[in-house]
Amino acid sequence: MVEVFFTIDVEVWCDGWQDIDARFPAAFERYIYGPGRQGGLPDQLQILRDHGLMAVCFVEPLFSGRFGAAPLEEVVGLIRDAGHEVQMHLHTEWVDEARVPMLPAVRRKRQHLRHFDRAEQCALVRQGIAMLQGAGALRPTAFRAGSFAMNADTLAALADNGIAIDCSYNASTMGPSSGVCPGETLDQARQLGPVLELPMTVYADGRGLRHTQLTACSWGELQALLWQAADRGHGQFVVLSHNFELLTPGLQRVDPIVLRRLRRLAAFLDRHRDRFRVRGLLGDAPTPPSAAPRHLRSPLWRTGARVLEQAWRRTYSR
Ligand SMILES: [Zn+2]
Repeated sequence: MVEVFFTIDVEVWCDGWQDIDARFPAAFERYIYGPGRQGGLPDQLQILRDHGLMAVCFVEPLFSGRFGAAPLEEVVGLIRDAGHEVQMHLHTEWVDEARVPMLPAVRRKRQHLRHFDRAEQCALVRQGIAMLQGAGALRPTAFRAGSFAMNADTLAALADNGIAIDCSYNASTMGPSSGVCPGETLDQARQLGPVLELPMTVYADGRGLRHTQLTACSWGELQALLWQAADRGHGQFVVLSHNFELLTPGLQRVDPIVLRRLRRLAAFLDRHRDRFRVRGLLGDAPTPPSAAPRHLRSPLWRTGARVLEQAWRRTYSR
């Protein structure tokens, strides 16, 4: 049985840092609900719910240091009301934008969590937890760094704050430079001191490593990788999505190809409950495999098929 985690990083951007107070209300509406209230977070959550599947929503709270608690309460409320799980995501781009300084020594933008020392990361994690709980969330038990930009200090900061599961390690992006398990491709759950690392699922596609993101893999690829994970004895499979994942890159409209992909994935996971169990992270921690299973691979012809599908999306999604 493969435990599947459908993770949604939930975040709002003003697409620049000028005039953000004036731009925020429209940005919030577009990023959370989608243009014309189509294809946003509620639609994504509903598709999963229609199949009895639960999403793990890594919600970014630091933006509320600028715009107040109400928008964060709205996001937390809609996720909880739809029966999904709220966990924590941090984008440190918001730190220097807060009305009350989060870290008084930080006056300039630092894009990544790993750009902060251990004590600073610890303070940010603590403030993020307080913001989420203040907005009506349960105390988070799992975390994902914005842009997967974690390092070894992140695990210490989580342990200091009683967060037992980290989902920030991504072998296809910043994992190898994180200082965590150097020299290894970490693609399975592993207990690292007091924190369980549940890394992003990655696969080799003949050109390098890629992660399993809804917009970045074709349906054929995702389905084949899920079966491969089951056949090779993988304990967990993590899928990445965002609140705006069903929208075209400019967030102008719903992307019909990605929408169909999510519907197919949800139906597949619903149909094959004997092999795949979609679950959250509030209960029992995932169990690391006793032996390292073989890494996931996607053959070159599937890569070619995906590249064609992505080109089709780019051509017809403008
Ligand atoms: Zn993010």
